[in-house]
Amino acid sequence: MPANAAPENLMETLVSLCKRRGIIFPSSEIYGGLNGFFDYGPLGSEMKRNIRNAWWQDMVHRRDDIVGIETSIIMHPKVWEASGHVAGFTDPLVDCKVSKQRYRADQLFFAPVVVDGKTVGYVSALESENTTGELQTAAEAFKRKKAIQGALEPVKPRDMTEAAPEEIALIPSPATGEPGSLTPPRAFNMMFETYVGALRDDSAKSYLRPETAQGMFADFRNVVDTGRVKLPFGIAQIGKSFRNEITPRNYIFRSREFEQMEMEYFIHPDADWLACHEEWLTWCQEWLKSIGLPESHLSLYEHAKEKLAFYSRRTVDIMFKYPFGVQELWGIAARSDYDLQQHQKFSGVPQTWFDEASKTKIVPHVIEPAVGVDRILLAILCAAYHEDEVEGEKRVVLKLHPRIAPYKVGVFPLLKNKPELVKRAQELYRKVKRRHNAFYDESGAIGRRYRRQDEIGTPWCVTVDFETIEKDGTFTLRDRDTLEQKRINETELLALLDEKTA
Ligand code: ATP
Repeated sequence: MPANAAPENLMETLVSLCKRRGIIFPSSEIYGGLNGFFDYGPLGSEMKRNIRNAWWQDMVHRRDDIVGIETSIIMHPKVWEASGHVAGFTDPLVDCKVSKQRYRADQLFFAPVVVDGKTVGYVSALESENTTGELQTAAEAFKRKKAIQGALEPVKPRDMTEAAPEEIALIPSPATGEPGSLTPPRAFNMMFETYVGALRDDSAKSYLRPETAQGMFADFRNVVDTGRVKLPFGIAQIGKSFRNEITPRNYIFRSREFEQMEMEYFIHPDADWLACHEEWLTWCQEWLKSIGLPESHLSLYEHAKEKLAFYSRRTVDIMFKYPFGVQELWGIAARSDYDLQQHQKFSGVPQTWFDEASKTKIVPHVIEPAVGVDRILLAILCAAYHEDEVEGEKRVVLKLHPRIAPYKVGVFPLLKNKPELVKRAQELYRKVKRRHNAFYDESGAIGRRYRRQDEIGTPWCVTVDFETIEKDGTFTLRDRDTLEQKRINETELLALLDEKTA
């Protein structure tokens, strides 16, 4: 393995590191876990908090045109009728009647096996990085098994949403390998239902929100009336969302409970929406880079016009190269005035803005950057994980940006049996901790202590040694990435931490 390389099985390696070092655990693991739900341990919760804080600082505090809100997870059920989620927030679902497995129809691929121009059967495969290759291999195996002579044509994959009714009976289930058990796709609403109050009838039915965005639309007038905002302006929110995903997968990438950071940027209907959309697209990419995601792993995906919802003018996703493929990280959508118009219609309450220039009431349009905290964390972990060799030993290091690292600095006394070193190290540790999360460690050889911090991404370690006590009060500062060591005093250390973690 070359120095600084990530291993082949990066996902497995990360899952085990996250478990071992208290970053991410399966939810309710003592009961066998619950598919699509995760817990964040002592270090993971720090990292998530750091992502949230960085976003909030940059999106809300450091701008003059954006305010933040926190809305309830369960909202009036009419919100979800107005937004279109009750009728349309569905994924196409295919059941296997024999195995009882469920598949998302757009993730289950099939292809006819064509020999000498004649269809002789079907093969299927779940979406992967190499779906076509898997289907081709399956087609070759099919031909061999049935001892069919002739030239096999290259497979032409389609997904189950494109299967003709007569084909469905012939496509094998991935669970059993046999045809005949797959159902035609049907729409499955992904909202979790719940009941508000003591009655369990339809009048009490509500939903756990599947996105935070509707909170911003429902509170639009409240913010305008109280927030002293002027167009263009944004309303931002961070919070949990819930989707009953048919196939939660790829660790925390697609889960059933996750956290979103969304912002609705309201603009005048006559404003240049495309320029504004471009600005947000750039802002979001720059922000991802600023917290340590490499540009080489980022790309853009423009949704085809004909596949957009009718109200959407443009959607571009920022994609990240995860180990399991290039996948959506952040969606930036130009949503016209659809949401406010819908709420105006369903609630009967005007969702307008008084435009001083034209002396008319207008309904603003909106640009929406929507991203998942968990997907950002996973991207950061994937990009940060490195293995290299230090002093002849394999080293695992998370090269986390100082803003995101759970601990900003490790503080060590050189020796634990020298009370004067321990006293000074603890004093420094207490002082640093008032402003930054720090970790105190006095056990084991100093090299071991560095290694423990490297593995959880601590950017710096300081060691209190004899020079500190006997000479000038300076400590050894060791840099996680360059391994460089230099002397630094307390004021300089605090200034370094303030600057790099802000
Ligand atoms: P996908 O196509 O991957 O299901 P989406 O287009 O439905 O995502 P949006 O509704 O645009 O996603 O949600 C905005 C953001 O919320 C996504 O870009 C992603 O970062 C995050 N997100 C959406 N669904 C999930 C999930 N099930 N688990 C984790 N994060 C999610």
